[in-house]
Amino acid sequence: MARKTKRVNWEDSNQTFRYCGLAPYKFLGTHAQAVNADGLTRVQSDDGLEHWTTPGGTCAVCGTYIKVFYNFVSADGTQFHVGCECAEQANLSYATLRQIDKAKREHMRKMRWARETKQLQELSDLLTENDFSEYPHPNKWRQEKGENLSHYIEWMMDHSGTSGKLKMFKMLRKLVK
Ligand SMILES: [Zn+2]
Repeated sequence: MARKTKRVNWEDSNQTFRYCGLAPYKFLGTHAQAVNADGLTRVQSDDGLEHWTTPGGTCAVCGTYIKVFYNFVSADGTQFHVGCECAEQANLSYATLRQIDKAKREHMRKMRWARETKQLQELSDLLTENDFSEYPHPNKWRQEKGENLSHYIEWMMDHSGTSGKLKMFKMLRKLVK
């Protein structure tokens, strides 16, 4: 278990991760806890019951609350996790920093994918629950052709990519509020 410590000034520190075992350290990868729809994460317990708690933990170096863990193991076998800022500020090798950067991007990509998937589902629900044929088509020329907003939506759902659909979703959500 990582020890909570006060903030470390890297400039004055001879050891890369003070209080976290001996250098060198091996980067083990990042990890973020899975959460349920209420934003809670499930924790293991001895009694066999399910427990839910707020996700996150503490950076082993500065004690900051973190949601994404950057896991390391020291030369003498101490495993600990730090936040991305401490991971990046530490005097690590270029190769490790590259690895961290890659893991961070991968995590961001997954988060974005999850967010977009959720919003696309919300868009789908919005279209099922509402009739947009009473609203005008956003394009004047199309309006004159007798088209309404539902024609626009149909066209967008067939031809637009994710970002276009989500832009439309925000616009439609305002309309039905
Ligand atoms: Zn930190």
